[in-house]
Amino acid sequence: MTTGRFAPSPTGALHLGNLRTALAAFLSARKNEGEFIVRFEDLDRITSSAEHAAHQLSDLAAIGIVSDAIPVFQSDRFDLYRSALTQLISRGHTYECFCSRREITEAASAPHGATVLYPGTCRNLTQKEKVERRQGRKPAIRLKSSANLITFTDMIHGLVSGVAHDVVLCRNDGVPAYNLAVVVDDAAQGITEVVRGDDLLDVTPSQILLQHFLTLPTPTYMHVPLMRDPDGERLAKRHKDI
Ligand code: GLU
Repeated sequence: MTTGRFAPSPTGALHLGNLRTALAAFLSARKNEGEFIVRFEDLDRITSSAEHAAHQLSDLAAIGIVSDAIPVFQSDRFDLYRSALTQLISRGHTYECFCSRREITEAASAPHGATVLYPGTCRNLTQKEKVERRQGRKPAIRLKSSANLITFTDMIHGLVSGVAHDVVLCRNDGVPAYNLAVVVDDAAQGITEVVRGDDLLDVTPSQILLQHFLTLPTPTYMHVPLMRDPDGERLAKRHKDI
């Protein structure tokens, strides 16, 4: 049976592009007489709010999209993410990263689209270097990806091959990061089909590698094109809701 989901961040009103993605996810699940659930990705407690979440649910309901289960909030589920992180650490799939955002931007030779890829500065630190760096700054935890090439079939893009990156799994303030939480939740909620914007196509290989490392199933993926304004810019919160 299909179980689909829509996982917005409750940081503002949904725009037309978000609603279209939600509709695609909902209809795809329903087409197979499957279930559909909404999950709130509110790991960032500063920009997220319960008011935005309530507003998003009512906008979804206005176009007939209702979650089959009471929506969960990722901020209530840190224990789940921490236990997955503990497994990854004990299996040797992570490393500590002491870099600041600025250091990463400066060290990265080639910016990759909008996101700067981590140049691997902290990947091979010696024990002595780690001890020294721990004095100065608390580390974030990164996935040790080994630059694996991951191939998967996307329902829109067809066969996709991409590199799994050393994404952050836990920020240096102890907050679990999106790529870890999404993998844990999709498995915990029995999601078999992930329909989302194609801005996330790039991180899907890292998420699939995480599923392998955690021995979790890989759902089917469908990355829908983002909606753009007449100037070709992708819709964002600044375009206001509808
Ligand atoms: N929370 C993400 C967003 O609002 C979606 C993540 C996902 O669907 O995996 O764009």
